[in-house]
Amino acid sequence: MRQAILSLEESKIREVANAGMGRSDVLPFWFGESDEVTPESVRAAGIASLQAGETFYAHNLGLPELRAAVASYTSRLHGDVLAERIGITSGGVNALIVAMQALIDAGDRVVVVTPVWPNLTAQPRILGADLHCEALEPDADGAWQLDLPRLLAAITRGTKLLVLNSPNNPTGWTLSKAEQESILTRCRETGTWILSDEVYERLYYRGDTASGAAPSFLDIAEPEDRLVVVQSFSKAFLMTGWRLGYLVMPPDMTPQVGKLLEFNTSCAPVFVQRGGLAALAQTESITPRVVTHLRRCRDTLVPLLQAHSGVHTSAAPGGMYAFLRIDGHGDSLQLAKRLVVEAGLGLAPGIAFAPESERWLRWCFASKDVARLGQGVERLANWLARHG
Ligand code: PMP
Repeated sequence: MRQAILSLEESKIREVANAGMGRSDVLPFWFGESDEVTPESVRAAGIASLQAGETFYAHNLGLPELRAAVASYTSRLHGDVLAERIGITSGGVNALIVAMQALIDAGDRVVVVTPVWPNLTAQPRILGADLHCEALEPDADGAWQLDLPRLLAAITRGTKLLVLNSPNNPTGWTLSKAEQESILTRCRETGTWILSDEVYERLYYRGDTASGAAPSFLDIAEPEDRLVVVQSFSKAFLMTGWRLGYLVMPPDMTPQVGKLLEFNTSCAPVFVQRGGLAALAQTESITPRVVTHLRRCRDTLVPLLQAHSGVHTSAAPGGMYAFLRIDGHGDSLQLAKRLVVEAGLGLAPGIAFAPESERWLRWCFASKDVARLGQGVERLANWLARHG
């Protein structure tokens, strides 16, 4: 087998979850998904499609009506985007690997801003890229910041691809429009492609944009720019298990991605795409409710955590995670495993996302029952009282 595959690390989040397997007393906040089921009307659309016998292959790039609906949804948020720029994929993760297959040759320099969801560093490694990580840094309050001049300097003429995830999993860090403008200008100079993972764009709490969504590279780029935006139905529509996502790309790239999709998944299942269409038709009733609830979750959890001396975290502007550090506890994998076994609390270890977040823990606050967050903090507090 290829060395690139043999040397891939298994998920450290799974490693912690495995430590809690079979334990019904653990409150799990380790995985990045809401515990709320997909809205009924979206499920009904998937069922109706199956009942109607839509059990066949579809176009590689997705149903024309779904591509059109995604284009008009994206246009409402970010200005005109044509359906010829849209490719439907089997989840955001499939969109990411297909985009990278289209753009990266083995040995290409790829710059990734970290800490980040591990797939974004594993996927370039699978393709044999020469990976260069640019680290965010936490300030005294536990908010993570980008050193923009350092990132711009890392984007050299030989850099094929820049991978960014904003709003960021796990830190919540979110790029500003001004930062995006500087990055786009630099990438135009160097001929570098931008792969922007914006799956958390609707989960944005600052309220300083006209659309309410986080700043997007689509707001400022031209259709022909070397920009690929990755999106997902998972977060804003509570559809993680459906595996539905999409790419927004330059028009010339779309047919090439269509070819690649043929050799990956061939197409997203039709009944899943029907669910996506139903979700988009109701986005204004689904997504604002999801976001309002997540804001409530964040604003419940973060102050409870901050009330404990020795626990450092800040309210993230985007995403669905609190990222926290506990004084005196440096080994996040060991700490997360101990919290599972000794406190019944399931968190993700910071080391899963980058070496620089080794001392941190990620807490997914997308809990339907907000009171569960308080119960989790109580468990943490009791454990801290016992173990310092
Ligand atoms: N990007 C990021 C940053 C994520 O956190 C996730 C989900 N955890 C995804 C992409 C992919 O989501 P999905 O494959 O469910 O669409």
